[in-house]
Amino acid sequence: MLHYQPQMDLASGALVGLEALLRWQPPGQAMIYPGDFIPIAEETGLIVPIGEWVLRSACAQQKKWQDAGMFAGVRMAVNLSTRQFGQQDIVSTVLNALAESGCSPSWLELEITESVIMDNPQAATETLQRLSDMGVHLSIDDFGTGYSSLSYLKRFPIDALKIDRSFVRDITVDADDAAIAQAVIALAHSLKLKVIAEGVETAEQLAFLRKQGCDQIQGYYVSQPLAIDKLEQLMSDNKLRLAVETPGH
Ligand code: C2E
Ligand code: MG
Ligand code: MG
Ligand code: MG
Repeated sequence: MLHYQPQMDLASGALVGLEALLRWQPPGQAMIYPGDFIPIAEETGLIVPIGEWVLRSACAQQKKWQDAGMFAGVRMAVNLSTRQFGQQDIVSTVLNALAESGCSPSWLELEITESVIMDNPQAATETLQRLSDMGVHLSIDDFGTGYSSLSYLKRFPIDALKIDRSFVRDITVDADDAAIAQAVIALAHSLKLKVIAEGVETAEQLAFLRKQGCDQIQGYYVSQPLAIDKLEQLMSDNKLRLAVETPGH
């Protein structure tokens, strides 16, 4: 099943995205998290049909919400794995998921990691360009944990960088992590990219990121990834808003 985690805009305080995150719930047993099965699915190749299911489900859910007038203007973010992105027909897989669901490309964001791109930059650039031309948004996940050639970064048609949670964790106490986060924000902005910080758990981390000009945040401070009914409940209780700093504070 998919759970969905809110992504919030710091300037407006509004919900701007929902990241679809895979969960495996064997009947009568504890929930299994992606860290325990995605690597195996990658190895066996099962990630390809699983990833296709994720894309279809996320697009179908997005279309449902948009039709119901819920989460209007909120983008659905879906993770693509290395193996999935490397498939010859990844572009048509995305196209089909959009066509079958009736979900507009501009409501979809695909998250890929640096290694996905750097594996084969030439092919990746072409694939990303085709996805971008369709109107799908693209972001680089876990940024800073892999390696990227900055010259490629400049050429990729991407919209956002996601600062990895490992840099955010100690951002207020570790000067090196703070420096890395600041540098990523500056790099993103000078390349005209948005920057989103992952794994924000405290008001202090949020305040630091806000001060550095970070655009969006995602993390337990706002909400854990949630099942559909819980997420809809939060939304209708008007709880998916972030306090916006008033001038003078
Ligand atoms: P990711 O794409 O970087 O997703 C963010 C992960 O950080 C999620 O873990 C989320 O629950 C967790 N997280 C978010 N905020 C916080 C926080 O404040 N504190 C802490 N400690 N953790 C936070 P999750 O759901 O276990 O997923 C782990 C990874 O598995 C994802 O990292 C992604 O790489 C992969 N994954 C999840 N779903 C899919 C999928 O549908 N397809 C593919 N290919 N990969 C997926
Ligand atoms: Mg992600
Ligand atoms: Mg990440
Ligand atoms: Mg990841």
